[in-house]
Amino acid sequence: MLNKVVIVGGGTAGWMTASYLKAAFGDRINVTLVESGHVGAVGVGEATFSDIRHFFEFLGLKEKDWMPACNATYKLAVRFENWREKGHYFYHPFEQMRSVNGFPLTDWWLQQGPTDRFDKDCFVMSSVIDAGLSPRRLDGTLIDQPFDEGADEMQGLTMSEHQGKTQFPYAYQFEAALLAKYLTKYSVERGVKHIIDDVKQVNLDDRGWISGVTTAEHGDISGDLYIDCTGFRALLINKALDEPFISYADTLPNDSAVALQVPMDMEKRGIMPCTTATAQDAGWIWTIPLMGRVGTGYVYAKDYLSPEDAERTLREFVGPAAADVSANHIKMRIGRSRNSWVNNCVAVGLSSGFVEPLESTGIFFIHHAIEQIAKNFPNEDWNPNQRVLYNRSIAHVMDGIREFLVLHYVAAKRQDTQYWRDTKTRAIPDSLAERLEMWKTQVPDSESIFPYYHGLPAYSYMCVLLGMGGIEMKPSPALALSDPAAAEREFAAIRDKTRRLTETLPKAYEYFAQHH
Ligand code: FAD
Repeated sequence: MLNKVVIVGGGTAGWMTASYLKAAFGDRINVTLVESGHVGAVGVGEATFSDIRHFFEFLGLKEKDWMPACNATYKLAVRFENWREKGHYFYHPFEQMRSVNGFPLTDWWLQQGPTDRFDKDCFVMSSVIDAGLSPRRLDGTLIDQPFDEGADEMQGLTMSEHQGKTQFPYAYQFEAALLAKYLTKYSVERGVKHIIDDVKQVNLDDRGWISGVTTAEHGDISGDLYIDCTGFRALLINKALDEPFISYADTLPNDSAVALQVPMDMEKRGIMPCTTATAQDAGWIWTIPLMGRVGTGYVYAKDYLSPEDAERTLREFVGPAAADVSANHIKMRIGRSRNSWVNNCVAVGLSSGFVEPLESTGIFFIHHAIEQIAKNFPNEDWNPNQRVLYNRSIAHVMDGIREFLVLHYVAAKRQDTQYWRDTKTRAIPDSLAERLEMWKTQVPDSESIFPYYHGLPAYSYMCVLLGMGGIEMKPSPALALSDPAAAEREFAAIRDKTRRLTETLPKAYEYFAQHH
């Protein structure tokens, strides 16, 4: 039986993998995690997808167990500011799209357009976020959603199995370093051997499989399966095993970021329960409100902007609160390993692949990868089909997200700088070009979006297309012949529910101050 796992790297990827494997296999698995005492983790990665709750559930953790320890908050949406024009914003919320007589409500919205805000007309969450509210009441109950929280039949499913069954209304935002610390404790308490040392060499046998890693002070460490969580360095998968890296730079040119962790009095400031992506002259700035600080950073393309100018713009954006905070400049490697599982090595996290964090997908990639590792854990046969299927599913997730991100730039109306003008002439994946043609006549549905699981349903594509404003969308011709009464009732029901919620939900800060 194979059961010895060596994880190299102790960032978010390393510790999420270690804790998940322990939760999945308990004492039947033997996990060693070695992380450098000198090379730090990337230090960013604080906003997530709503599916992340399945990770914590799988570990048996409740919000009250881990959220206070990680200064965590709720994220109900990504808020896009200035992508259409300065002063404009819209939300991409975690809220299932309603459907009326077989047509998504956004399709009816295009036909009837009660107001010019599709996100407020079609989703209740947009107004809840605008008002800075919590999706939970002070007694802890969740706003009513069309699903049963914690229902038995939902337990133990992977994210891809959940898709379409539920849409949980929020994700989390947390301090990455605190989460790694929390998961370290969780993992070590469950038997993970933790070694702080530098891996100096990765040793291969004569078949080209990893036979062990040599550390500076702890000698050789060997196992059956090696998990590369060394971040952009990709020490095992790309350096030792020489697996090629497929760059996405031709379609996603942002390759740099500068980040600031800005302490703030959140009681005074209040908490917007969302991650904001504010378009800038050569990229965009993220704003992630946590309990006690705001995480912020400028993602940009160095062909258009120098690191010094990016940092200056970011500091101006944040204001005096950032004066004494030091900046973290990060060079981003955008793309993926051709294969993430090669021989007896699986890469998880930044070593496997990364796209800019516009839709907070990095931790989602990690979560998806470790679900698949646990599901496809090998035995002595090392059946190559497992690797083929695993690699296919990882490639699909990343390639799908790449398409979705490219769509943001293609669909953004903004064209006021060279950076934004170039987004309209740059090559895009052929498959996306075909889809865009289709979406001009029919709004995206499950038949016309990227066909493999990649974490995003059709409504996410609709939000981006309708919100970015650079592509004219038309309603389905059939709606001109259809009775609009049911759609009008649905729009009215959303207005009613929005009013009810905004009058009764507590402020997000108030909720956390009481509960955490
Ligand atoms: P790292 O954090 O880089 O960890 C690498 C580990 O490897 C470290 O522990 C290091 O010590 C160890 N190591 C390296 N070399 C050696 C060696 N020789 N020997 C031993 N150990 C070694 N994701 C999201 O989901 N949401 C976001 O909002 C988001 N924002 C991001 C913003 C930016 C600018 C970037 C770059 C990424 C963002 N991500 C985001 C992605 C997210 O940060 C990563 O997916 C996540 O942090 C995982 O990183 P990692 O563990 O793979 O690598």
